[in-house]
Amino acid sequence: MARGRSDLAEPAVSRVADRATVEPATRRGALPVGRVAGVPVELHWSLLGAVALLTWLLAAQVLPAEVPGAAPVWRWTVATAAALVFVATIALHESAHVLVARHVGVRVRRVTLWVVGGVSEMTGEPRSPGGLAAVAAAGPVTSAALGLGFLGLAQLGRGAAWPALVVAALAWLGGTNLLIAAFNLLPGAPLDGGRVLHGLVWRLTGDRERGRAAAVAVGRLVGFALTGFGVLLFLLGSWTGLWLAAVGWFVGLSAAAERNGGRVVAALEGRTAADAAHAPELVAQAGSSAETLVAALRARPPRAASIPVVGVDGDPVGVVTVGDLVRLGPADRATTRVREAGRPLPAERIVAADVPLERLAALGALPGTDLVAVVADHGRLTGTVTVPDLARLVELHRLGT
Ligand SMILES: [Zn+2]
Repeated sequence: MARGRSDLAEPAVSRVADRATVEPATRRGALPVGRVAGVPVELHWSLLGAVALLTWLLAAQVLPAEVPGAAPVWRWTVATAAALVFVATIALHESAHVLVARHVGVRVRRVTLWVVGGVSEMTGEPRSPGGLAAVAAAGPVTSAALGLGFLGLAQLGRGAAWPALVVAALAWLGGTNLLIAAFNLLPGAPLDGGRVLHGLVWRLTGDRERGRAAAVAVGRLVGFALTGFGVLLFLLGSWTGLWLAAVGWFVGLSAAAERNGGRVVAALEGRTAADAAHAPELVAQAGSSAETLVAALRARPPRAASIPVVGVDGDPVGVVTVGDLVRLGPADRATTRVREAGRPLPAERIVAADVPLERLAALGALPGTDLVAVVADHGRLTGTVTVPDLARLVELHRLGT
């Protein structure tokens, strides 16, 4: 199963909140392997488990059934190779999403391949129904093309008397890729097919949120049906049923998340950094000592946990948190400058007041802080945007204000 970031669509703000705390832990499990169109591609450690499971499935179940009597060493060799090729096909499915997303102007932060497929983290949504449908369809179309290609190769191999194990592996790769294309085309969110439906209804009604609602409704139905069918299969004695039920459960949950994500998109749409930003209660000077900052905090404790750090000209250069100062310890506070106690601010988090909020929501919090971005005017800090700032806007939107 392969999913785009678009398919996963958790609420952007809860994602923002999660990232502040959860991301460092999950990020440790990812191994960078390369780039597609400038987008970093990472392997999650859980993928190793998937490769092992697939290899076993092929070597112990699929290949013995197709080619009885093949030597175990060849079975395991071919099975390992086929499992690795399968992972590569998942990567190609995700890469297709990434390339088309870039074509329609949606930036992708990174692609992570893990145990259930791939996740592309996109910053925002395509602006048109056609773009949305195209980004979603690119994955299954790629899987289907790969599937047909592998089946064609298997056919060719049969005619040319290639080793039977290789032919069987090619046929398995073909069938599995077709299955992935078909599964992802189920027309409910969060699957690729749900995105296509979303784009279609959006095009027909002119209303993006109505398209999303349709995709979410069908997604819940698909999740419910898969879960029910899976449980039934399991009761009839098939372990595949358990897997299907788990996938169905996941689809149902993600459909609900997609609905919440829609609320976030609607709440932030058309708004800018200026709408969310608040004037910082306290600004730390990069060159002053941590002790000076601690004294200022004691005198007037700020409500925000992240304190922006500025240079001599008032230009934003970093951010320091109360936690950073605690970790420093009393002895080091006198000798450490604020700049060293905190962390530098990446250029992408220093924004103008008119930057769309959707872009900031997609950025998430700077790891270890609740700060999303600082607003600067002519190089001088004028405001900060934090996770609570974004969450407040979403809540207010739900109130109908
Ligand atoms: Zn996909």
